[in-house]
Amino acid sequence: MREPHRTWGENLVRAAPIVLLGVITALAAWPQPAPAAVAHVVQPGETLWSIAVANNLTTRTVAVFNGLSEDAMVIAGETVQVPTVEEGAAALASAGAGSSSVAASGVDHLVQPGESLSSIAVANGLTVQQVASFNGLSEDALLIAGETIGVPAASATGSGTALAVDTSSGLAYLWSPAGSVPLDPAAASSFEAMRQASLSQFGVDLYPGGLLSGYRTYEQQASLYDLFLSGQGAPANPPGTSSHEYGAAVDLAEPVMRDIVDQIGGSYGWAGTIPSEWWHVAYVGG
Ligand SMILES: [Zn+2]
Repeated sequence: MREPHRTWGENLVRAAPIVLLGVITALAAWPQPAPAAVAHVVQPGETLWSIAVANNLTTRTVAVFNGLSEDAMVIAGETVQVPTVEEGAAALASAGAGSSSVAASGVDHLVQPGESLSSIAVANGLTVQQVASFNGLSEDALLIAGETIGVPAASATGSGTALAVDTSSGLAYLWSPAGSVPLDPAAASSFEAMRQASLSQFGVDLYPGGLLSGYRTYEQQASLYDLFLSGQGAPANPPGTSSHEYGAAVDLAEPVMRDIVDQIGGSYGWAGTIPSEWWHVAYVGG
């Protein structure tokens, strides 16, 4: 469904009125040029969500970049700007700075002698940019002991780790280097909380090892099981018997991640459930 990359000129020829409107809208919303964003002409059946997933972005990223709400309907023939990851993150950061919903989920922190934006960010599993933009500061701003700054809740920072929920399938999405991995929303939000704790306590991110390492359909589980039986794949349960089919399991990317889940997972309802598989952790409730 993804449009081939075309130049502005080709797009103008093909869909001049719609694209022109999109260009004007984009220029009005983003005074600074966004040369790497790709103009995508919405195809029948596409949604903001499907366009975001096809480009490994969250729905929120694409929505904010286009000045839309996450549940905005897009119409076939309309042009949506698909940002790069960097452009999307910048748009989220600037949107977050003025957003009351983000501010409401932060906590106040009284700056102690010797603390910096960087040390506060690290202590809270955040980036300097997230803390700076939350407070409307530049990343190199100096903090003064006794000053109060806001520390955003990790899930509200609009970073790559923010949860995107697909309202039609009811699944939430975890960020991973391979792309967005679907999971049951309750399992996803507790995993995300555990992940933030891991970042702040151990400096280690927790994420699924691949796109099929979270929720799987029956058919996806069946194909992994077939691979296992043929000796080409990792151990996998027969279809119909895997917690992945409920979106309640994650196959972790690295053994160090499992060490951390063993230490802190209990507080978040996550645990290893298959002794022979270090990578497999399941949401057992919480
Ligand atoms: Zn598994």
